[in-house]
Amino acid sequence: MDLRYTEEEEAFRAELREWLEDAVPKYGPAPDPDEWDARRAYDTGWQRTLYDAGYAGINWPKEYGGRGATPTEHLVYIEETERARAPYVGCNFVAQLHAGPTLIAEGSPEQKAFHLPTMLRGDEVWCQGFSEPNAGSDLASLRTRAVRDGDEYVLNGQKIWTSFGHVAEYGEMLVRTDPDVKKQAGITWLIVPMDRPGIDVRPLRAMEGATEFCEVFLDDVRVPVANRVGEENDGWRVANVTLSFERGTAFVADVMQTEELIRDLVELAQHLTSKGATRWEDAGLRRDIGRVAAELDALWALTKRNISQAQRTGVVGVGGSVFKLAFTDLRNQLGDIAMHLLERASLSIDDLGDLPSGRHVQARFWALRMSIAAGTSQVQRNIVGERVLGLPRER
Ligand SMILES: Cc1cc2nc3c(=O)[nH]c(=O)nc-3n(C[C@H](O)[C@H](O)[C@H](O)COP(=O)(O)OP(=O)(O)OC[C@H]3O[C@@H](n4cnc5c(N)ncnc54)[C@H](O)[C@@H]3O)c2cc1C
Repeated sequence: MDLRYTEEEEAFRAELREWLEDAVPKYGPAPDPDEWDARRAYDTGWQRTLYDAGYAGINWPKEYGGRGATPTEHLVYIEETERARAPYVGCNFVAQLHAGPTLIAEGSPEQKAFHLPTMLRGDEVWCQGFSEPNAGSDLASLRTRAVRDGDEYVLNGQKIWTSFGHVAEYGEMLVRTDPDVKKQAGITWLIVPMDRPGIDVRPLRAMEGATEFCEVFLDDVRVPVANRVGEENDGWRVANVTLSFERGTAFVADVMQTEELIRDLVELAQHLTSKGATRWEDAGLRRDIGRVAAELDALWALTKRNISQAQRTGVVGVGGSVFKLAFTDLRNQLGDIAMHLLERASLSIDDLGDLPSGRHVQARFWALRMSIAAGTSQVQRNIVGERVLGLPRER
């Protein structure tokens, strides 16, 4: 990957910037977080807008309907969409950022032909059914059974923490197809249509009030064998492909948002006063924010490497775990700095008086969620220790 921008890349940036300047304000602001029908319509509507303008699947190969952008163009795309405050990927997260890329890498020709175009148009919302109540971090211990019956699998079990489960048409689901072998060896990756009889989706409310999670109960749910991605019992390998996208490239736009969050925090510190001086005059605070900003720069370099690797090899690899761990850690540090700066205002998730504090309190919660979602920080440390540093296995 050449980090210098070519004339073509600058031309791409200019064309995209001009389009965003018109398209984003015209599209309007996001609806209330709890209005799910409106949220789904908003998120998928923006995906359709991107599709119609030729910007959907920016880094997906052209043969699958994507734009086939180079890694540098992909970065330019992220920079410009963040700069323009374009709508967040929202409930298209799973389809666009890890289920779609998994199908490109591992799906059958029929699965690609059926799902990829509809994902790109925003017609399909996907969810991820990996986690289970008694597995969690030990994902390979999952127990949801799938028993083959002719050309169908019959599923029984329970999933949990299924984000967007209540608005999804499809789920990327891990199921146990062989209980008698080493736990990693008996798992299969399935595309599950969420409207099948026997699926019961029950929304959950998170600590800070978010209503994104669901429990999913599966009772004799029949899924065609043709919906299997990869071979039967090879799902652990396919799941690792999915997770490498989820940990490695799915949060790239959030890195750009962090830059904005830091700028916002600096502005806040320059306005808040304590004992007659602005908080920004506190050398300790400046040092802490400066350190996080420098770490963010390093993370952006790692992001470029991951994107470049994904483009070259098709997957991100363990660099995804390094990124996820470092990014989550950085966001938690930044969150702590913000809480320290806001003092008593950090006790409310609403803006207080004229103080734009709510955004930073929400961001603090988000950082906490991020150190659990897509695999906890502790588990990422195990992966980095074992697979990158070659340390002895945990067990
Ligand atoms: C915002 C958010 C969105 C999510 N969305 C989805 C989704 O859409 N689909 C989905 O399938 N799942 C989703 N999850 C679930 C997430 O992947 C799991 O919560 C996560 O894998 C941890 O599992 P657990 O909650 O069962 O915790 P546990 O596995 O019970 O872990 C509890 C604690 O023990 C630690 N621990 C466990 N094992 C080890 C070990 N071997 N070494 C060191 N420490 C260990 C953990 O790090 C953690 O601190 C989401 C979670 C969050 C927070």
